[in-house]
Amino acid sequence: MEINTTVEKIFRLNPYQKRALAKLGLLTAGDLLRHFPTRYGDVAVMKNIGDLTQGETAVIFGKISNLKTSKAFYKKIPMAEAKITDESGNIKAIWFNQPYIAKMFSEGALVRVEGKVSEKKSKLYLSNPKIEKVDKVPIGVGESLFGSAGDEHYLYPVYPESRGISSNWLYHSTQKVLKSGILDNLIDPIPSEILQKYNLPGLKTALVWIHAPKTENDALAARKRFAFEEVFFIQLERQKARRDYEQNPSFKIIPNEADLIKFKSRFSFTPTGAQERALSNVLADFSKSRPMLRLLEGDVGSGKTFVAAAAAYAAVVTRPPSTRGLAQGKQDFGNLQVAYMAPTEILARQHFESFTEYFAHLPINIGLITGSGCLKFPSKTNPKEATKISRGQLLKWVANGEIPILIGTHALIQKTVRFKHLALAVIDEQHRFGVIQRQKLIRKGELAPHLLSMTATPIPRTLALTIFGDLDLTLLDEMPPGRKPIITDLVLQNDRENTYEKIRAEIVAGRQAYVICPRIDEPDPNKLLALQAKSVKAEAQRLKKEIFPEFEIGILHGKLKPTEKEEVMADFKNGKLNILVATSVVEVGVNVPNATVIVIEGAERFGLAQLHQFRGRVQRSNYQAYCYVFTESQKGNAVRRLKALEQAANGFELAEQDLKIRGAGELSGARQWGLSDIAMDALKNLKMVEAARAEAQRIITEDPTLKNFPTLAEKIKQAEAIHLE
Ligand code: ADP
Ligand code: MG
Repeated sequence: MEINTTVEKIFRLNPYQKRALAKLGLLTAGDLLRHFPTRYGDVAVMKNIGDLTQGETAVIFGKISNLKTSKAFYKKIPMAEAKITDESGNIKAIWFNQPYIAKMFSEGALVRVEGKVSEKKSKLYLSNPKIEKVDKVPIGVGESLFGSAGDEHYLYPVYPESRGISSNWLYHSTQKVLKSGILDNLIDPIPSEILQKYNLPGLKTALVWIHAPKTENDALAARKRFAFEEVFFIQLERQKARRDYEQNPSFKIIPNEADLIKFKSRFSFTPTGAQERALSNVLADFSKSRPMLRLLEGDVGSGKTFVAAAAAYAAVVTRPPSTRGLAQGKQDFGNLQVAYMAPTEILARQHFESFTEYFAHLPINIGLITGSGCLKFPSKTNPKEATKISRGQLLKWVANGEIPILIGTHALIQKTVRFKHLALAVIDEQHRFGVIQRQKLIRKGELAPHLLSMTATPIPRTLALTIFGDLDLTLLDEMPPGRKPIITDLVLQNDRENTYEKIRAEIVAGRQAYVICPRIDEPDPNKLLALQAKSVKAEAQRLKKEIFPEFEIGILHGKLKPTEKEEVMADFKNGKLNILVATSVVEVGVNVPNATVIVIEGAERFGLAQLHQFRGRVQRSNYQAYCYVFTESQKGNAVRRLKALEQAANGFELAEQDLKIRGAGELSGARQWGLSDIAMDALKNLKMVEAARAEAQRIITEDPTLKNFPTLAEKIKQAEAIHLE
């Protein structure tokens, strides 16, 4: 067996298992070794069926019988049923929406079942328990599933499962791989002096310990090692990418001081100290001949757009060096270019509209490119308006430099988009994009463009250090003057009426409100009717009929056509609509200063960072803003998280709390950053993250091409290859 021997060669697999393994991405022996348990249960919760009581979560072992599929009484949800029997008694088990379970086990098979005991009509049953086939039933409570008490390990690893593959199967299969001698040929990619310095186990030991730890400490040490490894590799790759990128020349941009002051005076406000500082950070980077790589991190509403606009101004009034002083084409001034990428069409359009205002006094063309079409400002016939143009035409003008500012969604990074002199790439709401998309954007110029990344995601410092390891950081740590702290209220079921009256008063006073719902309209087939989250469509109807008949109510969600979205947004912006019921599409960036109330339904379904983003939608003016958080959940953790929202003063404080309260992998959006659960968990440990970063920095500085670290070089090359795809 080799590390890349396929699982099909090693095990006899049924079709369910094959599909499940593919879904989990477990194709080879090596994949199995890297599929870590999410936790370690011990067998203390093992119970005799006769001793079960309502409400407890237990593990039982027994024979399965009376397997059948049926339809649930309400809503006809397909389900599987069975009886589990041991010497002390029997209990019924049911699985909603998983009728296939009845087919996966044969009558009389021995099974391990884990789940919560419920009661109905004074009969106990298990609802949607975990089930897996076992070879033998342990005798008596307290004995390990893996043999008698004298066996060498007693922590029971619990793996992430998928339909068709059980944790138990994964355990046994991984043990088979571990015992095959495969470990003897493995090379540890982490240099041994680093392992020693931080007291981390080597690769082989760590693999054994993570899959079958003898003690909790072994498990923790192994997890720490893999977390370190992951963060270290990310750091190494980002640091190297940064070093490589900085080798490229970029456009030097030195704006005329007086012109810049004039441009800034066109805004209706005076920039805050933080905005001025951020801008001078950017301009200092611009004046060097190597590209800027900077992250502008500022809470929602701190005014990042201003900084981006002023930076864009500095770029577009600068001429490329070769043509400086020459009259080029129709434009009688500079033609360095700016690409401005935003994560949604609504946001891209909003930026396009603001930019056409900021730059209206200058003979500068601004383009908008999104999946649903292209615009150019100004139009030939009306210098005050934008006009629709074809994609081909827009791309031509971008390629020949006639459109110096191009704003857009992901459409911006398509291959067909080419610039003549791309000098600055701005990425708004950076956390919505991956590193890959960022790299695609900055590869668009012949010189390396300066990069200004912006984010309001309040992310914990450790996460920022990791995923933005290659960026310099500027904090916008000051809100525009006069902003009142938003009043956040956690509203329980019985206080709705009261809250609606407060909202009515705000709207009557001329303000507007958002109502955020978790769903658009389709019912979730995995949930009973009573458990369904509120939907945009139904809630809008209910509000109109029962609560606010006197107000205009609109809806906004991702399934509307782009033109419909635009219309709704325009109606809300110009006050035709009093209330906008929407999904999380309004999460990022949307700017309607007159909206001062936001209601969030089913709040327990959103991450704290996301809730904070919602809240940012209404903190854009000097009116008092309100955020009403509605929850149906009574669960301790859910309420605790929402309470944190009520109390935290700013996003960064909130992010740290979120990290503390939530378990691994639950941190909102962990997946999109490409981090595993184990690394996310490690982010609770600032020291470890800083150590991984420092080591990576040291290695890249001492040995930029990694010629003394061939295994590391190989790893980095693999990562780079993925980015280049
Ligand atoms: P974000 O950082 O969330 O992107 P925006 O750039 O959208 O914030 O700014 C939020 C609102 O605050 C906008 O309406 C903007 O015009 C306004 N604004 C920005 N800077 C200032 C300032 N210095 N004084 C007053 N209002 C400002
Ligand atoms: Mg913004």
